[in-house]
This record gives sequence, C-alpha cells and structure tokens, in this order.
Amino acid sequence: MKKLIHFIPALIIFTMTTPAMAALNIFACEPEWASLAKELGGERVKTFSATTAYQDPHHIEARPGLIAKVRRADLLICSGAELEVGWLPLLQRQAGNTKVLSNERGYFEASAMVKTLDVPVETMDRTMGDVHAAGNPHVHLDPRRILTIATALNARLAELDPQGKEHYQKRYSDFKQRWQQAITKWQQQASGLKGKRIIVHHRDWVYLFDWLGIEIAGALEPKPGLPTTAGHLVSLKQALKLSPATMIVYTAYQNPRAAKRFSQMTNIPAVELPYTVGGAEQVNDLFSLFDVTIKRLSGERQ
Ligand SMILES: [Zn+2]
Repeated sequence: MKKLIHFIPALIIFTMTTPAMAALNIFACEPEWASLAKELGGERVKTFSATTAYQDPHHIEARPGLIAKVRRADLLICSGAELEVGWLPLLQRQAGNTKVLSNERGYFEASAMVKTLDVPVETMDRTMGDVHAAGNPHVHLDPRRILTIATALNARLAELDPQGKEHYQKRYSDFKQRWQQAITKWQQQASGLKGKRIIVHHRDWVYLFDWLGIEIAGALEPKPGLPTTAGHLVSLKQALKLSPATMIVYTAYQNPRAAKRFSQMTNIPAVELPYTVGGAEQVNDLFSLFDVTIKRLSGERQ
C-alpha cells in the first residue's frame, strides 16, 4: 500500500505534463498512411504505424502488441486490396473493437478510394501466385492517387471528429496546395525517365511507373509473391536481349540478393528505392519519399 501511495503523485505529475489528448487515435497499417494522417490531422491525431519500411507489409505477424493498438484505435487506415489479408482480419477479430471492423466508418481502405491497376481479367487460381482480385494494392506510389485518398481521408477525419472539421479542412487545403506544387516539380525532374524500361523485384512499382511513363521490363519474382528461381533469372536475361532494361529496383524490405545477382548476370545497375516513409535515411515524410525516389531513379546517389 505504501508503495502505491508513493506512486500516485508521480502519476499525477505525468498526466499533467502530457500534452492535450488527441481527438483521434489512428492505427495505420503502413508508414505512408501514418504520414498522410499526420499531414491532415496534425496535433488532433495520434498516429501509430503497424509496420516499418523494413517490413514486408504482405507478411506481418499479428502480435499481441498490435492487437492492443487496434483495441484502442478510433480509425484504421490501410492500403487494402488484400495487401493485409494475412494479418489485419486477425487483429480486428482479436481486438474486439467493433468501431474499426472493415464495414465500419472506423476503417479506411485507401485503395478503395482510387482506381486500381493490375486487376486480373481472368478467373484467379493459386497458380497465378499472390495476385489480388481488387487489383494491385501498392497505390501510395502515385502522388495523384495520394491526393484523391487525402480528399477522402479529410472527409473521414471530420466525420469521426466533427469538432475538428475546420482544423482538418485548413490542413487539407494547405497539404493539397503544397502537394500539387510538388507533383509538378517531380514530373519535371522525372521527364527524362519517360519510356525507360526497368526491372522490378515485385510489382510494387506499378503506380509509380504508370505515373512517370516507365515500363516494367520484367520482375525478379516469377509470379507475384513467389521467390526468385535461377531458371527464371536466366529466361528474364534472355528476354532482355530483345528489349534491354536500364535499371533493377528493389525495396528496403526485400532481400537484395536476387537484384544483386541479376545485376551481376546482366551488368544492369541494381538500385534500392525507399518504397515508403522511413525506407531511406532522408525519407521522413511523403514529400521526401518522392524526392528521393525520383533522384535515385534518375541515377543520382541519394
Ligand atoms: Zn504486392
């Protein structure tokens, strides 16, 4: 009991020195959505990202720590399109927080707000690998789609926290203006990349390349989500004889071995791109994510 009494004053001091409570507790499945929520919500939101740039968002363990975070969340922001199908439903079930179930307003699916690419035209089966029925889920690598998603997220924040409506609107207008200017700048910087052919490890670059007019010359994965094989690399090399490629790209969360091996086989440079916020030292928000990505694609050391 004595111990407890000693503990109470410390607790009071702690509570008093903690800044005002945020209105919304946001659980983002990936760092890009935590960043976007911070841009739009500022001090009214408290954000947490379930994954870092060094973790493969397709394969995350539903740890108890994550379940506890979902339990306390007012809003979940995830890429969707089945990217998190292996772990998010489990977190939602275990957390027992009905507000953030997938059909509730406390769940925000970014890919559902935009047109997705790579939507399979034929019936899918297991032999196609990790193909998603709702299309390619890596939507955040097109800044134009980010803006569409930001518009929808701004409305959702105001819906869940009506008292903050003006605050969110102000931040959204400011973000929109800075983001549109940045898009114009990036498009100018990347104009020389148009028509280039680049090899990817996984098709997580579809949206970026679609935006910049870059062509995917092939993937190191024989099928989405499947590991590279020696035979696949040999046939990929063969295919490049007819139409060459200028670069191989991979992310911070992928094992660089396949890219480096293929680079040795072909003499095509292998370049690591940040993929998301935190994926390189200088990448601490969505703006620097695209700054660094375009610099590295342009062959600048960054
Ligand atoms: Zn994927």
